[in-house]
Amino acid sequence: MEQSDLEAENLALRQQLEALLREARNNEDKMRRFEQLEHRLIGARSMAGLLRLLLNEYRQSFGIDCVTLALLDREQETSAMLEAERTRDDADKRAQLDGLTLLNNLAPIESLFQDLARPALGPYIEAQHRPLFGTPSPALASVALLPLSRHGELIGSLHFGSTDPGRYERAAGTKLLERLAAIVSVCLDNALNHERLKLAGLSDMLTGVHNRRYFEHRCQIEVSQARRYQHDLACLFLDLDHFKSVNDRFGHAAGDVVLQGVAHIIQGQLRAGDTVARFGGEEFVVLLPQAPAQHAREIAERIRLSIAASPLLALPQGEALPVSVSIGLALLPKGHLSGDSRMLAQELVGQADQALYRAKAGGRNQVCLAA
Ligand code: GH3
Ligand code: MG
Ligand code: MG
Repeated sequence: MEQSDLEAENLALRQQLEALLREARNNEDKMRRFEQLEHRLIGARSMAGLLRLLLNEYRQSFGIDCVTLALLDREQETSAMLEAERTRDDADKRAQLDGLTLLNNLAPIESLFQDLARPALGPYIEAQHRPLFGTPSPALASVALLPLSRHGELIGSLHFGSTDPGRYERAAGTKLLERLAAIVSVCLDNALNHERLKLAGLSDMLTGVHNRRYFEHRCQIEVSQARRYQHDLACLFLDLDHFKSVNDRFGHAAGDVVLQGVAHIIQGQLRAGDTVARFGGEEFVVLLPQAPAQHAREIAERIRLSIAASPLLALPQGEALPVSVSIGLALLPKGHLSGDSRMLAQELVGQADQALYRAKAGGRNQVCLAA
């Protein structure tokens, strides 16, 4: 072989080696970023913090054109957690949760996956993928859809979209994405449990409904929501009638059973986004977001009637003890309201309490609307 041929071959080999080394360094770098992010996911302390990591930092860190996430939230638990956090934090953090969809059923995502353990990679298909990504610009060309599952059940899906048709190819390896999906699933579950634990300190031991502390927090959130979106908000203040005589005649334990029964009946009349709490003693409060006056009144009447009609305590002779409640109803005024939400929330509850006094004075077992 000629000297010049050898040199040319040498050069080609060296270039190949350099290309391989570059790729190895690239992969190593990618893996390092992946592991860093993984650590941060595991360390995320709140639901909102975790979601921000996924929707923002993951996208930036890996140069993904579009990242969206759909999560099952049947009981609107996650949405309440995020809302609670949003009111604690400053407003602009909210904007960073763009790309999140909370689902009340799995219909929009369950057909995406044949196998809950495997991400689905392939070309972007408008009819199928647009509901997941909205209308990103520039247009997407390939997607990776990661099923999120816990205990064999789908709980959501994480979606990556790229303008590069070659980025997520059907035949590509998915080991890293599988690992990411598994970690994200566990982290979401953890965050949910962590937030639930925080809420456990906000429940009433006897009846299982929320306690006053939670109610006051939630009421402020609902007031600020109602102001921002110009929604209705109604508040009910309920007090059992002549409850002292129940205790006096049948004992405290019997009284406790009645309180549990009343809490159960109230809950049974409410929708998922409504709130019921034990305010103290034999008093309960209810928040009805987006309930116009007439509707709120109907719900209050329904609660009152079901309590009056339910046998909450069987007496020794077998007859049912009549139990009734008086209810005060107040509505948050519409239009521009001055003052902070905490003060407006206190006013709303105060007005419902005033109306309750009128219901008592008017003969009990009735609903009164605040003046
Ligand atoms: P009114 O119709 O005016 O509301 O009369 P009332 O007897 O319900 O009102 P009052 O405020 O005089 O009595 C409230 C009673 O509720 C007194 C208290 O012993 C009872 N109570 C408060 N908390 C509990 C509880 O946790 N368990 C039981 N069994 N009773 C309770
Ligand atoms: Mg009372
Ligand atoms: Mg009472």
